[in-house]
Amino acid sequence: MSFLTLTHIKKSFGPIQVVHDFNMSIEKGEFISFLGPSGCGKTTILRMIAGFETTTDGVISIAGKDQNGLKPNQRNIGMVFQAYALFPNMTVFDNVAFGLKIAKKPKAEIESRVKEMLKLIHLDHLADRYPYQMSGGQQQRVALARALAPKPQVLLLDEPLSALDAKIRVSLREEIRQIQRQLGITTVFVTHDQEEALSISDRIVVMNAGRADQIGSPSEIYNHPQTRFVASFVGTLNLIDAKVTDAASNTIQIGDQQVSLKKPLGKANGETVTVALRPEAGSPAESAKGDIRLTGKVASSHFLGSIIRTKLDLGGTMLSFDMFNDPGISPPTIGEAVTLKFAKEDLMVVAD
Ligand code: ATP
Repeated sequence: MSFLTLTHIKKSFGPIQVVHDFNMSIEKGEFISFLGPSGCGKTTILRMIAGFETTTDGVISIAGKDQNGLKPNQRNIGMVFQAYALFPNMTVFDNVAFGLKIAKKPKAEIESRVKEMLKLIHLDHLADRYPYQMSGGQQQRVALARALAPKPQVLLLDEPLSALDAKIRVSLREEIRQIQRQLGITTVFVTHDQEEALSISDRIVVMNAGRADQIGSPSEIYNHPQTRFVASFVGTLNLIDAKVTDAASNTIQIGDQQVSLKKPLGKANGETVTVALRPEAGSPAESAKGDIRLTGKVASSHFLGSIIRTKLDLGGTMLSFDMFNDPGISPPTIGEAVTLKFAKEDLMVVAD
């Protein structure tokens, strides 16, 4: 049985429904990210799991127990917020001890648990500091230790990295993931940063206007987006509107070129389909394999360090493609004709 389940969850604020029939089963020890733009309902779902918000309808259950009617402090959940939210007048030690003191744990137990937590986040040497004497990244690690100290059954992280600068964000997300794995704690992480979600999660829920557009592993979400929204939100995919020219042979027109795809399109001749193409999928190399060829003129080419991103004009339709930077290759020049080869499965038809 799944550990954390959300069944037919709905949420309205007054007349406005912000979560629509949300369903999900999360396994024990899984790391799940809710990914989506501002206002899509990620935080509201997290707050309903925590008990800060009631559900308008549906059931949230943890370890087989319906959480309806339970107050936040009765749910045994740890939470970390975007703003560090440490108690400014308490030392690091007292911040981490807070939940254990509230639970009236014996002094010796509190002492050893806090020490254990501070070791886990590599801040055992700063136990006597106050929050104002620490960096943002250190404060957020203390917030994590404080959330984990009472041994919660679920950890909820609401954009915990977004107030930090880019470098710390990457190192702290790796640290969070490593600690989460070490403890085996079921974790739900909210973010609007697709790279963060792709790098840290077992599974990602891509949220769109109060609904889950797609739930899947990072590679499923990136390589096989099911909707136009997922394709456009995750990664820098090309989204191309193409016309069905021969439904019987799955043939579509991209720019001025005819292309036959692998799977049935489910559309009639003359209808439009959206095709998603990853920029790194096509290759201009002589040796590249692929049944599908698309030829265009180079409209622009940008050196981005490890890759060169080039825009091709396929007769009115633009297509970006990436090549790894290699001292042996010369970047395409504007106006040059380039033929890219693709495997049939690289062209993904997505729902609108
Ligand atoms: P963000 O990343 O900006 O926090 P989000 O995806 O987490 O966005 P939510 O905070 O869950 O989005 O908000 C979803 C919708 O619900 C928004 O339209 C928001 O304005 C609305 N909303 C959230 N809380 C309340 C509230 N207490 N009263 C009324 N509307 C609310």
